[in-house]
Amino acid sequence: MADRYLSFTGTAPGRFLTRRLGLPQPAALERGAFSGGLLHLTAGKTDLDLAPVLARTGLGPDDTGRPAAVVLDATGVRDVDALAEVHAALHPVVRSVATSGRVVVLGTPPDPADHHQAAAQQALEGFTRSLGKEIGRGRTVNLVRLADAARADATESTLRFLLSPASAYVSGQVVEVGPASGTAAPDDWELPLAGRTALVTGAARGIGAAVAHTLAGQGAQVVVLDVPQAEDEARRAAERLGGTALALDITAADAGERIAAAVPGGIDVLVHNAGITRDRRLANMPADRWSSVLDVNLASVLRTTDALLAAGAVNRGGRIVATASIAGLAGNAGQTNYGASKAGIVGLVRSLAPRALAGHGVTVNAVAPGFIETRMTAAVPLFIREAGRRMNSLAQGGLPVDVAQTSAWLAHPASGAVNGQVVRVCGQSLLGA
Ligand code: NAD
Repeated sequence: MADRYLSFTGTAPGRFLTRRLGLPQPAALERGAFSGGLLHLTAGKTDLDLAPVLARTGLGPDDTGRPAAVVLDATGVRDVDALAEVHAALHPVVRSVATSGRVVVLGTPPDPADHHQAAAQQALEGFTRSLGKEIGRGRTVNLVRLADAARADATESTLRFLLSPASAYVSGQVVEVGPASGTAAPDDWELPLAGRTALVTGAARGIGAAVAHTLAGQGAQVVVLDVPQAEDEARRAAERLGGTALALDITAADAGERIAAAVPGGIDVLVHNAGITRDRRLANMPADRWSSVLDVNLASVLRTTDALLAAGAVNRGGRIVATASIAGLAGNAGQTNYGASKAGIVGLVRSLAPRALAGHGVTVNAVAPGFIETRMTAAVPLFIREAGRRMNSLAQGGLPVDVAQTSAWLAHPASGAVNGQVVRVCGQSLLGA
């Protein structure tokens, strides 16, 4: 459903009127290509050799005074005094960052053994989230924490994503990049999934269809899984992508075995996207509404993941991406079932990620969409829909492609150091942490 307010504020009378009335002023987000360059700043004494990684992003050094991207290396910030350097570095340039530009702050995990370092590094989180809320004009601000052992090259896929138009709707996020085990730079950064097989559940339409499309565009052979009732839609989607369709209800007890049989060469990228809502307040919610949501959104994800890992059907170097929701982080009235199921995904991801990496060489992460323009949100009543669209730093809903691009980054062969993360694709929604 078209966002008419966003179109209206893009016109001269719309801009004039909404400014006079003090209404939100969403900027049309740039999802194509950036024209400006990159500004690399540091705060504190850093040991990180980022220059070669940044050079490979394709963003040349900024010589226009209007950078499309700013990277602040604050990994050397070890005490509160050094935070002054964060201010000194960004204060003079923040106003000049281009519309839809990117600011990425690099830090390290707060050190439990050093409360001065921990205070200073945690401060970067509050700084990042606050700057994200005030920077405006479609610009995003994110914090990447490098684990001690991480080398600069472990950040490459993450920096490429966060500094590109692909992360248009990701802001105010904190992503941890761990040790680089399992990370393989692709031969071709444009086609990183060439030769890989991806299976996306619930991919006949909506976000899942966009994920399938994006992964296929990056070279993957895609299996489009959806319920038998959506078989025709799934088959058409698969044909467009040169992939195959698998008509299967993911809640079937033997879904894992049937997927493994359908993909004999194993799966490299598994995206658990299928999901449903059956909203009611708890007092009015019959047991079947509760159990159907828990079954599709959570139990089937646990069951199929377990079955596929146990069968060795997820290849080494594989990537599992599950779909949470900000409703699972912040809670939402009328969605106790849905919120429980999506919070369960967060628990699953955080617990399984280290073991899946150690035992199978597979990463496990989640995307947590906010308000995304799909059939699911088009069905939301008008006023709630408008609130959902505006209550985030970018003052608009995201598009399925925004979730798809985030999934593609997590699915990237070079993202082996990104594990156990829950990344919100929500324009920095005011709801939730
Ligand atoms: P959608 O309803 O448009 O599409 C969901 C797809 O999943 C459909 O094709 C459906 O047939 C399929 N599906 C449902 N049950 C299935 C089952 N048992 N087996 C196989 N396939 C099944 O939804 P969407 O908006 O594209 O959402 C996709 C995912 O993103 C869901 O997990 C949803 O909870 C999550 N999400 C969406 C939003 C949003 O704003 N749209 C926000 C947060 C989270």
